[in-house]
Amino acid sequence: MKILVPVKRVVDYNVKIRLKADGSGVDTANVKMSMNPFDEIAIEEALRLRESGAAKEVIAVSIGPQKAQETLRTALAMGADRAILVKTDIAVEPLTVAKILKHVAEQEKPDIIILGKQAIDDDAAQTGQMLAGLLGWPQGTFASKVVPADGALRITREIDGGLQTLTLKLPAVLTTDLRLNEPRYASLPNIMKAKSKPLAEIDPASLGIDLEPRLKVVKTSEPGARKAGVKVTSVAELVSKLHDAGVI
Ligand code: AMP
Repeated sequence: MKILVPVKRVVDYNVKIRLKADGSGVDTANVKMSMNPFDEIAIEEALRLRESGAAKEVIAVSIGPQKAQETLRTALAMGADRAILVKTDIAVEPLTVAKILKHVAEQEKPDIIILGKQAIDDDAAQTGQMLAGLLGWPQGTFASKVVPADGALRITREIDGGLQTLTLKLPAVLTTDLRLNEPRYASLPNIMKAKSKPLAEIDPASLGIDLEPRLKVVKTSEPGARKAGVKVTSVAELVSKLHDAGVI
């Protein structure tokens, strides 16, 4: 069984976002970039499936600039077998990413594609669903548990008010929830080993897909400043303030 894992290069989740002076978007110049956290969880799940014997190969794929190679090297250092970079400097939207991934899936013929549930830069949470739709494959989104079950996958999803269990026939698309697993750190020897693992490049022009954005960013602005809090000296004062504010 082959597993394809799309990984996106995003602003590191610890970085405080700064806006460009003209409000046209987020300033990424000289900012630490990392693999989207939900994609680390996707790589981890794919590696666990391979280590359990359920899968044979894990392939990481990223659509982005040359620097997205670093994100792919991280995936390789975690343990992915090989990587594919679909190189573009255009900030691609979820539908474009899904169309490109469909091409990659048709070439690679994976049994499972595991994406993050959302990218923390656009917060779109759309790519996995669109990809499953384009491929006509079953989808298990926001998976918090994945168990291989005889040519199928049994997945648990967290939904309002409880858990839902689905059985998906393969090939299938999954997206990862935060509680699926805790991703491993890449060890130094594995970081060194990753440098010699295969990393192929695809020119998206060869796929005949229009990469130009369909959405226009009208304005980006900082959230309003929060009002300063008040320090209370006793529980009685806290209770009295909450009472006056109509909270209790
Ligand atoms: P989104 O729909 O943008 O919130 O992204 C959901 C998931 O799609 C991410 O967690 C990634 O697994 C995948 N994805 C989105 N954009 C890219 C990209 N440019 N390259 C690789 N994977 C991506």
